[in-house]
Amino acid sequence: MEIDGLKGRVKDHTRPMIIAGPCSVESEDQFRQSVTSIRHKADFIRGGIWKPRTRPGSFEGVGEDALVWVKSLKQELDFKFTTEVATPEHVDLALKYEVDALWIGARTTVNPFNVSEIATALKGVDIPVFVKNPVHPELSLWKGALERFYKAGIKQLGAIHRGFHTYEKNKYRNPPFWQIPLDLKSEFPNLPLICDPSHIGGTRKLIGEISQKALDLYYDGLMIETHYNPDKALSDAAQQVSTDQFLEIVDNLNLRDAGF
Ligand code: PEP
Ligand code: MN
Repeated sequence: MEIDGLKGRVKDHTRPMIIAGPCSVESEDQFRQSVTSIRHKADFIRGGIWKPRTRPGSFEGVGEDALVWVKSLKQELDFKFTTEVATPEHVDLALKYEVDALWIGARTTVNPFNVSEIATALKGVDIPVFVKNPVHPELSLWKGALERFYKAGIKQLGAIHRGFHTYEKNKYRNPPFWQIPLDLKSEFPNLPLICDPSHIGGTRKLIGEISQKALDLYYDGLMIETHYNPDKALSDAAQQVSTDQFLEIVDNLNLRDAGF
């Protein structure tokens, strides 16, 4: 199957697509402070509204109230917003509050029933949908989720590589196994491939080097978790960079050798 991906993004290859913002939208003030200084460098601001935590008992996202804050801050500061959806109810709420793009999380991509339900809820809606790889390294599930969205009429598609769970000790939280996303790209050459160094690295000191490595492998963009005070973050504290670190990482990327 031919997947076109986000129109123009791969062909107009002058700079990487950047998605940045906090792991979770925690409060109106936290979100404002996390996005104000970075919004001009981001095609999309990210922020989790519903958080799929691996184990119960941790922060699971604010839900609909956060969508109210996001919508009003978008009007004030002028940025585009993307969030994770895992159910048709999430899709309906995200659309109600005019979210600009959606992504499918690693724990959802693994489940063809969930993916089909979300794709059905999106019928007739023309916004970008990014599909993260499944938690474990199974390329066909990742392809299958993308194909399900494509068949449902969603044409603005992108893939996000967030690394793969392994039980073995590794310097990465989720080792990248770089060949797997490259195999996806070789089957779907027009599908934009975005790297999520935050969930691959698991620690903020690795974000710059993973980002550069991805661009050197001709990735089309980056999704970087960014928080105004990362150590105080309610989810993924160790891997979020500060807003100043984000700006430094993005400004220091070597784009010329990465084909931009
Ligand atoms: C996230 O982006 O915050 C997230 C939960 O990601 P993943 O689905 O890749 O674990
Ligand atoms: Mn996260």
